Amino acid sequence: MRTDRTFTMLKPDSVEKGHIGAILEKITASGFRIVALKLNQMTKADAEEFYAVHNERPFFGELVEYMTRGPIVSAVLEKSNAVEDFRALIGATNPADAAEGTIRKLYAASIGENAVHGSDSDENAAIEAAFHFSGREMF
Ligand code: UDP
Ligand code: MG
Repeated sequence: MRTDRTFTMLKPDSVEKGHIGAILEKITASGFRIVALKLNQMTKADAEEFYAVHNERPFFGELVEYMTRGPIVSAVLEKSNAVEDFRALIGATNPADAAEGTIRKLYAASIGENAVHGSDSDENAAIEAAFHFSGREMF
């Protein structure tokens, strides 16, 4: 995948609280172009694979439970410097540490239920986008 793209998920808490529209508006108003988008629900196996890097961490079981409890919105976003700029837009993992105006500051409840995912590298963005979307679903 091109290096000007990143992958995001609006996590189950964002969907449950009715924040899909507000978060997508903030993303596009911040200069990201949506090049893939869908509502879908991860299975336990999906979440275990997606978050495999964290499988030894104490929060892994809760994370899988949370990420599979309802639908998510998956998207691929395009902008120059996409990965870094999107991480800045979402804010710190723990909303208590997130900067004012960031998506997690605005919409996340806790370090566990933190509203959105953002890829942490170009390499992971490509892997994560391919996990959720076929080539024909990315524009
Ligand atoms: N997480 C958690 N407790 C922690 C750290 C992370 O529940 O102490 C969850 C949280 O949902 C986070 C995800 O695990 O978004 C992945 O963690 P990571 O450190 O990769 O944070 P992110 O890249 O999402 O900011
Ligand atoms: Mg991460």
